[in-house]
Amino acid sequence: MQPDLYRLLLKSIAEANILPVTSACNGRCLFCSHLQNPPGLRVYSLPQLGKEEILALAEFLDPGQRIVIGESVTRINEGEPFLHPEFLGILTGLRRLFPTTSIQITTNGMALTPAAISFLASLGRVRLVVSLNSATPLGRRKLMGDNDPAAVLRAVASLGDRGIPFDGSIVAMPHLVGWEDLRQTIAFLARWGAETIRIFLPGYTRYTRREWLPPAGMEEKLRAFVAEEGERSRVPLILELPFLEDLTPRILGVIVDSPADRAGLRRGDIVTAINGKEPFSRVDAFRQVQKAGRAVIDLNRDGAALQVSLEKEEGASPGFVMAADLEPALFHSFTRRMRQVVENRALVATSTLAAPILASALDRVQEELPSLEIAAVPNVTFGGNICCSGLLLLEDFLAALPDRVEGCRPERVFIPGIAFADGGRDLRGRSYLELQTILKTTVELIP
Ligand code: SF4
Repeated sequence: MQPDLYRLLLKSIAEANILPVTSACNGRCLFCSHLQNPPGLRVYSLPQLGKEEILALAEFLDPGQRIVIGESVTRINEGEPFLHPEFLGILTGLRRLFPTTSIQITTNGMALTPAAISFLASLGRVRLVVSLNSATPLGRRKLMGDNDPAAVLRAVASLGDRGIPFDGSIVAMPHLVGWEDLRQTIAFLARWGAETIRIFLPGYTRYTRREWLPPAGMEEKLRAFVAEEGERSRVPLILELPFLEDLTPRILGVIVDSPADRAGLRRGDIVTAINGKEPFSRVDAFRQVQKAGRAVIDLNRDGAALQVSLEKEEGASPGFVMAADLEPALFHSFTRRMRQVVENRALVATSTLAAPILASALDRVQEELPSLEIAAVPNVTFGGNICCSGLLLLEDFLAALPDRVEGCRPERVFIPGIAFADGGRDLRGRSYLELQTILKTTVELIP
């Protein structure tokens, strides 16, 4: 195996407890991100790894955290795990290594046979994320190239009976399959027991085929649609990306019959304190309640204050859903670093997605920090609606920053480390240090 690939496999395990098993996929999704990349990206497809090789890597997984399969946080293309010819054997090996650890598998459902479902039920502590996208035969054929849609729908409908918890996910393309298709897909997932349903705005780039592009205004329409359906739905509907403006810990939804449901929490509640302590952000609020066994939660519900008591096992999920915003430990280590190295003026460059959240967090500590500015960096390389930090390239920083530093050069420019996660190099292999030469000031990566 190439050393670069081996390093990425270990990184995926160490940083996110994600075990990559295959990059092969039996889907032909119109929205697949692998089809919309700019040329020259350094991304990797896994060669066929044997069961023993994968289980040797699994030894590095953290037994204290959920093991995730079928997702990617690195430059390794994720595929459909059930296509690996030894996948059930890999799961048996994982269970032997980690008898009590929960395993989460993301699947498109196309290889989820009755035998595989029985096996998962017998294995225990397995949770699925089913990328269903459409629950109608026409929709699945069109969006995913699925030639046997009935099989997937039967498989999903049987998960609840077999005691396998699952979440649904939908890349919403109503401009291609109609709004009714989307409504039916949400209803199907809710009917067969999905605990949550994530609805993704389709990501597109300058390389996406014109006939698949959403029309103008689709994003706003989808937002309104999800908000309206969310009012009716007993299952939390979560719109991705959430485009957050602040760190207010507002509950997006509550899982039926969960500790949060039993405690009386509701969609729209704002958590103001947990056991008397004000949370820093959504992530902080969720983690605090997750960690606690018993949590006394102060809430703001439509302007009125109230208090509830939530009981569960320590470390178990509380059963409410919040968008992911800012990890307090990461933010505090960043501000500590700023105080150490900046005396007067710094520039913090980040994605257009993260900029409002970061600005909201920095506002809270403004008085203790040197003067700083935030630069929101648009993704011109991918283009389209791509707006997260992990897909920014050096070229994007080069397009946005020289004008910002001209005339009033900051002592230091901070940029997101996730964009240069390959040893300081971006997705095309260019080093962030080139930026330092051009901006004529110190450039530092934010972890
Ligand atoms: S299931 Fe996922 S990896 Fe496979 S084609 Fe669809 S989007 Fe791409």
